[in-house]
Order: sequence, then C-alpha cells, then structure tokens
Amino acid sequence: MQAVLLYEHGGPEKLTLVNDHPVPDPGHGEVRVRVLAAAMNYLDIWVRSGWPGIKLDYPHILGADASGTIDALGEGVTGWTVGDRVAIDPTLSCGECVFCRTGYQNRCTRFAILGEHASGTYAEMIIVPVRNLIALPEHISHAEAAAASLVFVTAWHSLITRGGLRPGESVLLVGAGGGVNTACLQIAKLAGCTVYVVGSTDDKLERAKALGADVIIRRDVDGGWSRMVYRLTAKRGVDVVVDNVGQATLNDSLRSAARGGRILTVGNTSGAEAMIDNRLVFGKHLSLIGSTMGPHRDYVSVMNLLFKGKLKAVIGATYPLADVQDAHRALEAGAVFGKIVLAL
Ligand code: ZN
Repeated sequence: MQAVLLYEHGGPEKLTLVNDHPVPDPGHGEVRVRVLAAAMNYLDIWVRSGWPGIKLDYPHILGADASGTIDALGEGVTGWTVGDRVAIDPTLSCGECVFCRTGYQNRCTRFAILGEHASGTYAEMIIVPVRNLIALPEHISHAEAAAASLVFVTAWHSLITRGGLRPGESVLLVGAGGGVNTACLQIAKLAGCTVYVVGSTDDKLERAKALGADVIIRRDVDGGWSRMVYRLTAKRGVDVVVDNVGQATLNDSLRSAARGGRILTVGNTSGAEAMIDNRLVFGKHLSLIGSTMGPHRDYVSVMNLLFKGKLKAVIGATYPLADVQDAHRALEAGAVFGKIVLAL
C-alpha cells in the first residue's frame, strides 16, 4: 500500500512516499480503515523533528487524523460492516484502567495518539480499535471529518469540559489561524460567548472575523496586545484565555485575564518553557488549566455538532499524499488558515 514513511527525525525531506508498504491486518477488537483523507496537526511536526526521549518504531508513519471506509473487521468486532463510512477518534487508550473506566480515556495510563505512539494516518490503510470509530453521515466529506477530529475534540475538552465555559463569558484566543483556534472560536460562539482574537496578520484576523470573532487585535499593536485587551475590556480583562503558543505569549495571556480568570492550554507551538510573573497568578486568582486531546464522549459530542452543521471544519489547503513534504513546509510556515488535508 501507499504510505509516507519516516526513517529518522529531521526536516520535511525525511518524509518518504512508498507504494509497497505491507498492508496491516486487524487484531481482536480492531478494524482496518481505508484512509480517504488524512489531516495534519502541529503534533506531526514535533514527532517528525523529534524531542529528547521520544522513541519511534521505524519506519514510522505520522498522522493522527483520518476518515475513510472500513476495509476489514478483526475478530470480535460486531455492529460494523465493510464499506461503512467512518471517522476516527485519534486518542488511543487501554479501555481498562480507572481513567478509561470512568470516561477519561485521554488520561489513560497507556494513553497514546495515532501517529505519535502508534502507526498513523499518512497511509492507505490503518488499524484502529473499533471503539475509536464514529459513523460518518453521507453529507459530511471525508476531508471535513479528518480535518475536524483532533482539533475539535481537543478544543471541546479544553473549553467546555475542563474550562467550564459559560454563556456570556468573554474568551480571548491567542492566535487566529491554527486548527485548534478555529475550532475554539466556533465552539465559544456556539456557547454564547464574546470572542477576542489576537493574530499575526490582517488577513488571518479578517478570516477569524468571518468565522465569528467579535474583536480582532493585531499581535504587533502599539503597546502590546495584552494592554489592548485590557483597554478594550475597560480594564477588566477576559474570563478565559486560550493560549496554545506557550513560551512567547503565556505571560501576556496572564495579563489579559480578568480577576478569577482561567488560562486554558493544550500546547505550546512557540516552545515549552515559559517565564511567567507569578504575582499575576495569585494576585488575580487565576487558574491555569491544561489538557490534551479529549475523552471519547467529548469526541462524540463535538462530532455530532459537526454533523448537524453547528460547527464547520476549516480547511485551508489540500495536498495529494505525494506532496506531503510541501504540506509540512506550509504547516511549519504558519501560512495556512485552518487545516491542511492530505487526500488519498
Ligand atoms: Zn486506560
């Protein structure tokens, strides 16, 4: 089968398309899915580049997001038929530990993500546990389902489950164009919140506005964006800040928050170690709330909103699998608003 293989860490040039990778067989409780669309996440860049301590089984296949049709059923799988259209929850879990049994699969002691700790979606076929599947209605394209999966479950879990977002609250998104940000923007609007967006370019900010942002702020505004947030909120600050940039922005996020505010984080695209002024945390009674991915019930909730048309996958670019190196370059350059999809 076609697959994009990684033999060692490095730049986009390390991604190698092959046509003769062996087709994997599903085990007990697993299915083989014929991938028709895969979507890229910043996670793919981190895994490709590597970090101290990461261990991959080479050749490794990247990719957390996919949608397609069932190609084969493993032993013990019932309720599904070959040919069914499906989207895949990208969080892998043991199904047995206390976290799994209480509905927090994303806290599983053997938590894993497709394409990071397991073989991923940049391939014609993938094996996943049947419990990760959700049936995909005919009116939703495979590209939309793949583009939505990881970012929407991550955004929903962060904002709604962990962040306890309530109607009428104000939400600041640090960053306009990333997949999680475009998901957070839609979820916050659906929840009845006022949304502020800080972005790097007028173009990205205008697109955020078209998606529903109430107030847009340039990252390079005179005096700094956190001061502008303070001014625009009559020195109150916002109830919730979504900061997945990390090192470069976290302290400004603390400044932007109102007393009692929550800072939500699911990532750190600018770097992991951030310097913060702790006086802001205790002086303003702030909560810093982290999470990663989301449990399966959150995946089902948010995908159903996609299926009902309440939320929309934002696809910025589509590349054929053969052009995966260019797709990685585009993602790393931050040049695309919304998700990048790989078509198979
Ligand atoms: Zn578990």
